[in-house]
Amino acid sequence: MKDISCKLLVIGAGPGGYVAAIRAGQLGVDTVIVDFQKPGGTCLNVGCIPSKALIHAAEEYEKVVHMAQAGHPLGVSVASPALDLAKTIAWKDGIVGRLNSGVAGLLKKAGVKIVVGRAAFRNGKTVAVETETGEQIIRAENVVIATGSAPVELPFLPFGGAVLSSTQALALKAVPETLAVVGGGYIGLELGTAFAKMGAKVTVVEATSRVLPLYDPELVRPVLKRLGELGVTVMTDAKAKGLHGSGDALLVETAAGESVRVPAEKVLVTVGRRPVTDGWGREELALDMDGAFVRIDAQCRTSMRGIYAIGDVTGEPMLAHRAMAQGEMVAEIIAGHKRAWDKACIPAVCFTDPEIVSVGLSPDEAKKGGREIVTGQFPFAANGRAMTRMAEDGFVRVVARADNHLVLGIQAVGAGVSELSTAFGLAIEMGARLEDIAGVIHAHPTMGEGFQEAALRTLGHALHI
Ligand code: FAD
Ligand code: NAD
Repeated sequence: MKDISCKLLVIGAGPGGYVAAIRAGQLGVDTVIVDFQKPGGTCLNVGCIPSKALIHAAEEYEKVVHMAQAGHPLGVSVASPALDLAKTIAWKDGIVGRLNSGVAGLLKKAGVKIVVGRAAFRNGKTVAVETETGEQIIRAENVVIATGSAPVELPFLPFGGAVLSSTQALALKAVPETLAVVGGGYIGLELGTAFAKMGAKVTVVEATSRVLPLYDPELVRPVLKRLGELGVTVMTDAKAKGLHGSGDALLVETAAGESVRVPAEKVLVTVGRRPVTDGWGREELALDMDGAFVRIDAQCRTSMRGIYAIGDVTGEPMLAHRAMAQGEMVAEIIAGHKRAWDKACIPAVCFTDPEIVSVGLSPDEAKKGGREIVTGQFPFAANGRAMTRMAEDGFVRVVARADNHLVLGIQAVGAGVSELSTAFGLAIEMGARLEDIAGVIHAHPTMGEGFQEAALRTLGHALHI
């Protein structure tokens, strides 16, 4: 096979890698991208997109089940709802397939060459790719490492059989009667809620004292309430110990030190993800590490000249939109533009029921360092649109500097608030003050009015509460 020479080689076609390659191609950089899987990475194939498809299907099903119960307040009645999970999964796979083709098409349109196979560095400028037809050598002036992350496996609950990773949970063809979820973080609660809505009896086993430790307890409270309504048992300060010999239960040590059997036809292990730092010839390089992650600077440069790293392999937060923003920036740097990481915030969204959004600093984070702050909160119970959607649980909260009202953080919990993350991010990135948000006409009736009202309330003159 003839060697390839290029200006840029991207290893990994996840959201970080494919965005880097598309942008580089647009800028006329001679670019090659390598992946042994379909383009889109974890996010598109087994992460963000498939999980949100399943969450949506579960939400629709649960609504119909609820309507089938006598006396639904909307006056809608439904007979005998049923869910065919195999069909749901086929629908989800269809979306993933369309997006795989879409990403491949975008790469081609940008003039990027796609090589299918597993890449490994031979040295800082040469990479060997194991393809179906043999070894392909690629020499590149610049290489971007975008190899992503993989689920953490617990030694006493190895993946396989009844023990599922998120990837396997997203491919189930039937809803398990009982599901134990080990790890009450993002994936555990997003997928745990979806399976509870589809009819599984779900137990969440979390090692620390609370679920979703990334978000403050006030934001998580409505989620816990809803989990209770869905019949989900949440065990905190609890340690999973392994499968019970019978194969249909998980052994758990409770906070009180008791050993209990949690019924579990399936066990979903979601205790975090680890960067993929092996399998691509790291041993041939001299890269500085930052714990388990590849160390990068504000331009995503590693400790080796001409080698960049982006996305999950470089650290927290392991989110697709961070990877994409890094990818875009690195492509522009390689094309000769002056760029450095200058983002004011990286939005975090948890697609639970209700959803949680956090952009910028929480009140506690903002108070650190002795900064004086003001905060204001507006409940959706006082929002007309929320009432018409039967979605009154939750609120929007604004955190600002006390002296000049610069907005430092915005959080929300409520139905569909993921879509508000755009307005929140824009406000912080543009350096908005409370008066700016209060002065924008927010369309009525929308949940977004809660944002304006939270700013008004922080200023001491909310109108609708
Ligand atoms: P990845 O998407 O992991 O892509 C890395 C790619 O590199 C893979 O395609 C892999 O095959 C390839 N690769 C690895 N080694 C090699 C090699 N040697 N040669 C060639 N190719 C290689 N994030 C969000 O922001 N929002 C969400 O809603 C969300 N939901 C998620 C739900 C689930 C269930 C999971 C698991 C994750 C979710 N994430 C979400 C996280 C998100 O998927 C990641 O942050 C994102 O995919 C990281 O992008 P990346 O480009 O760094 O790596
Ligand atoms: P996570 O870090 O969100 O949560 C892991 C949870 O498991 C934590 O609460 C932790 O305390 C707990 N834990 C750790 N070890 C444990 C043990 N032995 N027993 C019981 N509990 C244990 O990790 P995740 O849910 O696996 O998700 C991985 C990453 O994927 C996230 O951190 C996030 O970056 C990304 N993700 C993002 C989204 C989103 O943006 N909506 C959705 C899914 C995943």
